[in-house]
Amino acid sequence: MTEESVFKDKKAIYYTLGCKLNFAETSTIGKLLHSMGVTTAGKNEKADICIINTCSVTEVADHKCRQAIHKMVKQHPGAFVVVTGCYAQLKPETVSRIDGVDLVLGAEQKGDILKYLEQRLPLLPKERQLKDAGHEALTIPSKDIRTFAPSCSCGDRTRYFLKVQDGCDYFCTYCTIPYARGRSRNGSIASLVEQARQAAAEGGKEIVLTGVNIGDFGKTTSESFLALLQALDQVEGILRYRISSIEPNLLTDEVIEFCARSRAFMPHFHIPLQSGSDEVLKLMHRRYSTRFFAEKIARIKQNMPDAFIGVDVIVGTRGETKEFFEDACRFIESLDVAQLHVFSYSERPGTMALKIAHTVSPEEKHERSQRLLALSEQKLQDFYKRYIGTEQNVLLEKSKDPKVMHGFTENYIRVELNTSEQTKDNQLVRVRLEDFTEEGTALHATLI
Ligand code: SF4
Repeated sequence: MTEESVFKDKKAIYYTLGCKLNFAETSTIGKLLHSMGVTTAGKNEKADICIINTCSVTEVADHKCRQAIHKMVKQHPGAFVVVTGCYAQLKPETVSRIDGVDLVLGAEQKGDILKYLEQRLPLLPKERQLKDAGHEALTIPSKDIRTFAPSCSCGDRTRYFLKVQDGCDYFCTYCTIPYARGRSRNGSIASLVEQARQAAAEGGKEIVLTGVNIGDFGKTTSESFLALLQALDQVEGILRYRISSIEPNLLTDEVIEFCARSRAFMPHFHIPLQSGSDEVLKLMHRRYSTRFFAEKIARIKQNMPDAFIGVDVIVGTRGETKEFFEDACRFIESLDVAQLHVFSYSERPGTMALKIAHTVSPEEKHERSQRLLALSEQKLQDFYKRYIGTEQNVLLEKSKDPKVMHGFTENYIRVELNTSEQTKDNQLVRVRLEDFTEEGTALHATLI
């Protein structure tokens, strides 16, 4: 860093909305700024740079992004405000018109953030005057998204998040992500293995593989997802890997069998089902049937009987009649899965789903969502109960309460144990699982 560096003595603050991929990318931006000498502003400190990484998965997400931007602008008057992420990519004009926003970066420019900050930070007072006179923020998002911006970071979490893939070619009828994140692309196996080695060198023990449609890995490098898993499994020092979310049609039997016999891939899967009705799956342009999905779950359980399987479901999509929803409930109930992640359908401008005539009222969506959430709670309790009294390996993580540490078993059971001299953050320990915690969302555990 030279004397004249525009980053000298600067403090930054970061705000992330949305998915794990966004969190990983914000951490990477934080690392880049840190390497230039920028420190993170403390709780009551005023920041010079605000980075807001947005999400646009639903209308509610868009609203939250606007609220977050207003809040940051108010809390850090005069700061240079950068907005990036999916909402910035999809609605650059709307974002650039928000008072206090100086720079709107799209998916393609995220990796070049330092370059843009170097150019724009010194211009700030002049830019502000222009903006006061009616000019908008500089907006850079381009429609053509091709580059793969690498990201492997843990921020203040114990687990590392390694982005292996970005974008999606699937165009499900309700989804805007392919427009916000571009076409499917990925890092090379060699570069990703190198990032995993680096994480291990920094002391990382667990890595979560992230991406938008990670099973589609390999399009740009002519490599396969299975080959990636095989290569990562050999990285010394990394004791655990988790695959964040994978489309059922891309979770091949070979991948399942490999995970079952691998050294470090955990018996834990997160699979988007989206609907348990074949008619609705067709309307969504999903690439599997309920029968195929059920066979996939059975295949995982045959190979890994203890596997934790989390499933995404959307309720109230256009075309989901009462009858189809009842079919979906029956199907989901029959699945041997541990948890449901329930989302209410939200209309997204520009999507094909808007052509489907049948709509579901907000009240009905709420009722459907409550029903599936109750089913999810039941399934989670049943899954946890099976392991009370068993011994498990847990990777400890910090919690807000200094007296309590938490962590996850290999099969993703959340546990809590009292902090003691023997417990440290990022330490792998052997515990015995006891009863449910008061909130019922974790199991108490004791060291053995
Ligand atoms: Fe969206 Fe479908 Fe791609 Fe998932 S697979 S990101 S839901 S288009």
